[in-house]
Amino acid sequence: SNTPSNETLIEWDRMHQIHPWHAMDAWRGYDNMLVDTAEGIYMYDSTGKRFIDGPGGMWCTQIGYGRKDMAEAIYDQVMKLPYTSPFTSATEPSAILAKKIADMAPGDLNNVFFTTGGSTAVDTALRTMQYCNNRRGLPEKKMIIAREKGYHGSTYLAHSVTGKERDKSHFDFETRLVHFLPDVNPYRRAEGQSVEEFCDEKVADLEKAIAEIGADKIGAFIAEPILSSGGVIVPAPGYHKRTLEICRANDIFYISDEVVTGFGRLGYWFASEELFDIQPDFITSAKGLTSGYLPLGACIVSDRVMEMMSDSDEPSSFTNGYTYSAHPVSCAAALKNIEIFENEGVLEHVRAVTPHFQKRLRDLMKFKIVGDARGMGLLGCIEGKAEDLEAEKKLGSQIDEACEARGLLVRPLINMAVFSPPLIITIEQIDEMFDILEDALQEVQ
Ligand code: PLP
Repeated sequence: SNTPSNETLIEWDRMHQIHPWHAMDAWRGYDNMLVDTAEGIYMYDSTGKRFIDGPGGMWCTQIGYGRKDMAEAIYDQVMKLPYTSPFTSATEPSAILAKKIADMAPGDLNNVFFTTGGSTAVDTALRTMQYCNNRRGLPEKKMIIAREKGYHGSTYLAHSVTGKERDKSHFDFETRLVHFLPDVNPYRRAEGQSVEEFCDEKVADLEKAIAEIGADKIGAFIAEPILSSGGVIVPAPGYHKRTLEICRANDIFYISDEVVTGFGRLGYWFASEELFDIQPDFITSAKGLTSGYLPLGACIVSDRVMEMMSDSDEPSSFTNGYTYSAHPVSCAAALKNIEIFENEGVLEHVRAVTPHFQKRLRDLMKFKIVGDARGMGLLGCIEGKAEDLEAEKKLGSQIDEACEARGLLVRPLINMAVFSPPLIITIEQIDEMFDILEDALQEVQ
């Protein structure tokens, strides 16, 4: 046949493809796993070896792999209308999807700007703030408060508000516009400090920043409900509500980045209101919106912000947009995804299996190399602990290797390993996953 061999494919990948987060010091120096097929929660490499997809792709494969009904919905939309310009036309899938998202989102978040993914959704939220404050005659009010360990994407502006490993990256950032608040991880709190005291301190960090910079210079605060890529950091109770109240009191827009936490990861369409009792000004979403079948993101904007932006007689168009905004085929995939969630009770399923998942996760604290095991919904992280800091930093990749050998993929992050399996995972499969993990931890420790 004309199909290149697996070895050839791996070589072509190594020689010609630049991957996200490519290790430049090992350019062309290592082989990636060639993933071949997938079904349900399982992935198969080119040798036929089976893996549980522990990270759920990149926290996105909610309904699992191999859904024929999804393939058919995508096929049907391709044949009906694969593309039309979002700058000048409406389409059936994007109109229905916008309405559905407006109904799902909290409060007056009734306006949806479709993007190509999470980074562009964050970029759009931040640009909307800038546009809004310029339109309001507040051109000085542009600074963005972000947080250490936050991850918001890889466009220039979304990366600029990302608080992870900045010094290591060698990229340039927009620094004039961004101020970072210190680490909000309760696991890292001072000895003897209670979680409540820690929360007070973190809220005070925001107040202090506002006092120092001046509320008239700050346009937005951006936060993930749970810092996901930063190590599944669950906030101290009350943190989000208190920071939102401070933002409101200072006319600072609150952007809740739900790219990971949205679409069922925590058992709800969105976590902001249901779990953290906040109605933000913006919600950014992507990933689980299509369960990863096609790229799509959404920046959801409140009526309040829209009214501020349009409250002027001076003509002005909102010059933000992408060729593939509201792509009809991606929107059709999102609609099918939502239909599957509804028909099969995916949100209810997540809420039902969460206690078991979180219990098995917390049981891992019995291993002495596990310093912390934390999470919420079907999101979890173990943070490795060792006497020696250098040894500790290697724990993530050691756990990853031991799991991979046993047929479980995890996502290593320095001394941590994170999990966000497809939401359709059953109790038996959760046990299968944690049994492998325990076996792997036994070896590593
Ligand atoms: N925001 C959060 C919270 C994320 O975790 C991510 C990606 O992991 C992004 C934004 C960026 O999304 P994308 O990679 O789709 O551009």
